[in-house]
Parts: sequence; structure tokens; C-alpha cells
Amino acid sequence: MKVILAQHYGVCFGVRDAIKQAEDLARRDELTILGELVHNPIAKERLGALGAIEGSLDAPSATTKKVMITAHGASNQALAKWQERGHEVIDGTCPLVHQAHQTLFELAKAGFHPTVIGKRGHVEVRGLIGDLPEASVIESADDIASLPAKPRFGVVSQTTQPIDHVLALVAALKEKWPDAVVEFRDTVCQPTKNRQTALRKLLDEVEAVVVVGGKNSNNTLQLLKACQTAGKRSFHIERSAELQASWFDGLDKVGVTAGTSTLKETVASVKEWLERL
Ligand code: SF4
Repeated sequence: MKVILAQHYGVCFGVRDAIKQAEDLARRDELTILGELVHNPIAKERLGALGAIEGSLDAPSATTKKVMITAHGASNQALAKWQERGHEVIDGTCPLVHQAHQTLFELAKAGFHPTVIGKRGHVEVRGLIGDLPEASVIESADDIASLPAKPRFGVVSQTTQPIDHVLALVAALKEKWPDAVVEFRDTVCQPTKNRQTALRKLLDEVEAVVVVGGKNSNNTLQLLKACQTAGKRSFHIERSAELQASWFDGLDKVGVTAGTSTLKETVASVKEWLERL
């Protein structure tokens, strides 16, 4: 059986830097991470072993002086609440999430109705709209019908949405409100785009794909969805221990990809397992 890795897969610079920052801090001091630092159970276990506590951004307090915002970002309001309570807030937000925040603020300031294409309730989306109570979220085409009538929409996207899906929703928004100005700024991050494009190429070459990543990692789930939409057999696992030999009976070519929160060593162990098989 031939095992083919996607050209782009696994951990992105934003996740890598956030993990390093958190691990360095946890080695030196007591630290509470305000949520899942990244949606990856292995990184979470490693941080737990260093003594880092997992708290919640919305919780009223933490037992440690230092608290850390996750790579997904947070609203200024949420951040200020922790500072007011006397905590030292360390910002682990990915620079590309910061950029999406900045873009949405600019659009709102210029008089556009702030609109985010993304998963309602996801921590990144909550952070994006947290300082803009009037903002709307579009998760699917159904949401467009219930948007308020506005002369100008300023649209950004959650960084880990598939760009095709985002562009389709922007087109649907323009169709619904043909007289409105729809100003779209593409804030889907490059690592997400690279992994989606590489997967499309991989799908042409293999009979099945193993998708490695957290069960609650948005971009991992998007990779899985792309396999399913292409009608390709796919297996979603978080680590190699979950693999089962029977899944691969009769297969000659299997692809491997991974979401942006999946560590390279996790993917390497999956590839090794498959090659041994
Ligand atoms: S997926 Fe994109 S936005 Fe999220 S941490 Fe990685 S680079 Fe940053």
C-alpha cells in the first residue's frame, strides 16, 4: 500500500508559536490558559504535564496571576475583564486572527454592517464579534435570509473557513441584496488555503484519506468534509492508536492530511503505522 502525504498538512505557524509560548511560560510560572490553546488533545496533554491549567475565557476567575488568550483570539472586552480582575494577560492570538479583527473594525468604522462568515459560537467568531454587538454571523446560506436590511455590508471570514464556501456565501449575499454594497475582505488564512488546495490534489491520487486532527478542530473538520464531498472514503483520527488495519483492506493508495493544529510528530507516527501495515 502506498502512503501519500498531502503537500501541505499539519501544524501552522500560529499554532506552533502559541504552543511554544505556552510551554515556555508554563515551565517558568503558574499559568491558566483561557480555553483550549489549540484544538489538539496531544498538545493539551503536554501542557497539562507542565502544570498549565485549562480555564475558560468566560469564567469569572482563575487561581493563577498569569492567564493566556488562545490562538483563536478574544474580544477587547473579554481581555479587559481579566485585566480588571488583576490578572496578567498573555496574548497567544495568532497574528492572522488579529488581522481579521482589525479588518472587521475598520469596515465597521467606515460605516459597513460588520458581518462574519463562520461557525456561530466558535471561539474565534465570538472573539471577532465580541466588541461589535450589532454584528451578524453567516454560517450557511439559510442565515442570509434573516440578515437585517443594510445598505452596506462589510464582510470578513473566520480564518479557517474553506475559501470556496466563503466566496459562495458572499455571492449569495450580493444576490439577496443587489442594491447593497458588499465589501468583502478575504481573511481566510494562507495555511488553511494551502491545506485545502493540497487535499484537492491528493484526492485525485488516492482511494482513501486519513485526516488527522482534533475532533473539535474546525479546519480538520473542513478537510474531512472536503473528502466526503468528493465521495472519498475518509477516516478521522486524533492519533495513530486509533487506526484499524481492517479499514485499509484492499486499498493500494492511501492519503494522509492533517489540520493546522495537528503536530507534525503525530502525522509522522500515522504515516509510519500505515507504512508498517
Ligand atoms: S489556522 Fe491560520 S489563523 Fe489559525 S493559528 Fe493557524 S495560521 Fe493562525
